[in-house]
Parts: sequence; C-alpha cells; structure tokens
Amino acid sequence: EKVFLNGTIYPSDAAQISVFDRGFLFGDGIYEVMVQLDHGIFYKKAHLDRLQENLDKINIAYDVDQLETQIAPLLHAASLEEKSCLIYMQVTRGVAPRKHAYPKGYPATTMMYALPFSLPHINSKNITAILEPDFRWHRCDIKSISLLGNVMTNEMAMSQNADEAVLVRDGLITEGSHTNIFFIKDEKVYTHPANEHILNGVTRKIVLELCRDLEIPVVEEPIAANAISSMDEAFLTGTTTQIASIAQLGEHRFHVPDAIGKTTLKLQEAFAELKQLDSST
Ligand code: PLP
Repeated sequence: EKVFLNGTIYPSDAAQISVFDRGFLFGDGIYEVMVQLDHGIFYKKAHLDRLQENLDKINIAYDVDQLETQIAPLLHAASLEEKSCLIYMQVTRGVAPRKHAYPKGYPATTMMYALPFSLPHINSKNITAILEPDFRWHRCDIKSISLLGNVMTNEMAMSQNADEAVLVRDGLITEGSHTNIFFIKDEKVYTHPANEHILNGVTRKIVLELCRDLEIPVVEEPIAANAISSMDEAFLTGTTTQIASIAQLGEHRFHVPDAIGKTTLKLQEAFAELKQLDSST
C-alpha cells in the first residue's frame, strides 16, 4: 500500500507526519473520498471541486489541481491504474505551533492513498437505520476531518446491529452519519436542502440530476421525524453506499411490494447505467 504525503509517495508504513500537524491537534482539515470505476474516476471533477470549495471555505490556501496531478503517479505506484479502487484525499492546515487562530506562512499538509475497492452494480441491501439526535455542529456543509459526531452516531448504529444512524435536528431529519437521505411519497422525492445542516453529497447531486432526467418531481425540504410513517419509500446515498434502500427507519418498517420500492429501484437502475459512462469531467 502506498501513501502520497507532501509531494512524495511512500510505502504506507513509512509515511509520517508531525504531532504538531493541525489535522492531528485540531481536526483542522478537509477530506474527500472518490472511487475509480471502469471508465475512470467517477465524478472526479465534482469531488475535486468540492475539495477546493471546502478548503476555500476555511481559508486553507491550497490549489487542488496540484493534488490532481499526483493521482496518476499514486495509482501507478500502488499498481491500481485502471483498477477499481477508492481514493482518499486529505488536506490540513499544516504543522505550526499550537494556537487556535490560523497560522500564517505554513504550508498545508497533503495526503492521499488508494485502496482496491469495488462497488456492486446495484446496492441490493435493504438496510436498517436507527434515529439519533443530530448533536453535530452547525457547519455540516464543511467536509471536515473532525468527524466525532459522525463517528459517535455511527457507532450507536453498529452497536445496535443497524447499518446507519439517521440524524434528527429540531424534529427534522437531516442526513445519515456518512450518507444523505431521501424519501418518496406519492411519486415525489424529498430530501433535505443543501444548507449548513448537511453535507451536499456528490451522490445526492447525481440523484437529483437523475430525478430531473426521469421527470420525477423533487422537493428539497426536510422531512419531520414524526412524518416517517407516512412516507412510501426511503433510501440513503453516498459514494461507497451508492443508493441503498431503507427497510426500517427507527420504529417504522417500510412495506413495499418486492422489498425495494419502485422509485428507489428506478433510480438505482439509472445510477448503475450512469456508471457505464465516462463521468470523470
Ligand atoms: N453526508 C455525510 C455526513 C457524509 O460524510 C457523506 C460522505 O462521506 C455523505 C453525506 C455523502 O456524500 P457523497 O455522496 O459525496 O459521498
């Protein structure tokens, strides 16, 4: 396994950072996860643009184009060229004496690795999710490496043998611990608007595009936790999750013929087709 760190590719056990790295001390950094499929990196531009936008939001001065040029050498070194793999990228505010305010004149720390990883044609699981209070901060739009709230709520799901924790803020469903959530009622698709209370997923955006193509009406409004039982279908989205049907959410079991709801299945099939195309630009 190989790791790209600050311009050099190392065997993973030789890649080292300072304990004074602000990523380590403050969780002061941004990350991104994308997958390479048969036709290149899936929605590469959308992922790299999001990384740049997030770095800009927190004033880390780094040009993501520099990291992009290192993807091919990393995949080559890791023998993953043209193979199905997952690419993790992280940029932190760098190594500086520990003070809260942004230090001036210290270069960002850049890190990236790739692992063999493959996605099923369609995610055929029908998952169980628990409901948990969304006690995260109010800037969930930032893809911060500080993921403690996500880690804690995901752990609650794992410890109850569930697949995901779906979060509720002020009575409204926001997103999953590492996924976005969609509902379907009367053939309309509902999802939380892309504001500071959710991470605007690349997969979320793809699903919204697919809805437009398929002429499925979309309402970007949050669903109240107490309205779940009036919904017809629900699914989660994420880069590694793709589109995952939800069988049970909290106390509510969705009853749909053939287990996977028809709108969810339609979107899963359209998403699978999209993966057959080159969507890297
Ligand atoms: N919401 C959260 C909190 C996430 O961490 C993620 C992905 O990591 C997502 C949503 C889904 O985003 P994407 O579709 O870009 O993978």
